[in-house]
Amino acid sequence: MIPRRLPVTSRRMLSRQQSGFSRFEADLANKSERRAAVSKDPLEKLRHLCLARGVTGILSIGRIFRRMDDDGSKSLNLEEFTEGMNDTGLQLPEDEVKALFERFDQDGSGTISMDEFLQEIRPPMSETRLKVIDEAFKKLDKSGDGVITIDDLRGVYSVKGNPRYLNGEETEEEILTKFLHNFEKDDGSSDNKVTKEEFVNYYAGVSASIDLDVYFDLMMRQSFKL
Ligand code: CA
Ligand code: CA
Repeated sequence: MIPRRLPVTSRRMLSRQQSGFSRFEADLANKSERRAAVSKDPLEKLRHLCLARGVTGILSIGRIFRRMDDDGSKSLNLEEFTEGMNDTGLQLPEDEVKALFERFDQDGSGTISMDEFLQEIRPPMSETRLKVIDEAFKKLDKSGDGVITIDDLRGVYSVKGNPRYLNGEETEEEILTKFLHNFEKDDGSSDNKVTKEEFVNYYAGVSASIDLDVYFDLMMRQSFKL
């Protein structure tokens, strides 16, 4: 089935990613708020609360994580996690907070690392979606070293038709840097290098708002001319 109308993202993904808020993100926020309200699973509830802030909700988890990390050890112990959960307004009983903590703590070390946190909170995706995300990443990573940089983008992403470039408001460098920042964690650690992990995290957020694999696949193919 070929959908007659594509999500807004499919048509204007590259320019939209620079323009911030959009109807698409508002849709995602509404949907996620409703899902958070009806969800029974605490992890799902937490995930939807993050997504209710839009696609960047998943990226700003870096900030949420740091806020919970009281002693700055870059990992969360049960006490910090419990306090953080109370702050989200989820109001879970003690045993559920503990169960949730154990789900995050994959290696059973007694603390949650940022990677463990992200891995669990990320909305799960089908093989089809992961495959097309992988294709897009490979296309952007021209040098094939597993990281997307400005140099990679110069070869695949033309700014020549960008209005801000044409009227001299922004240089190619500025436009490409902004594009990369869309995918980077919003916690001050951005270095103009996008790893596969960051790329997948970003699209996990986008993916959560698109119900059918076929739409997601088409959106990615059109956005990146795959
Ligand atoms: Ca751990
Ligand atoms: Ca590269």
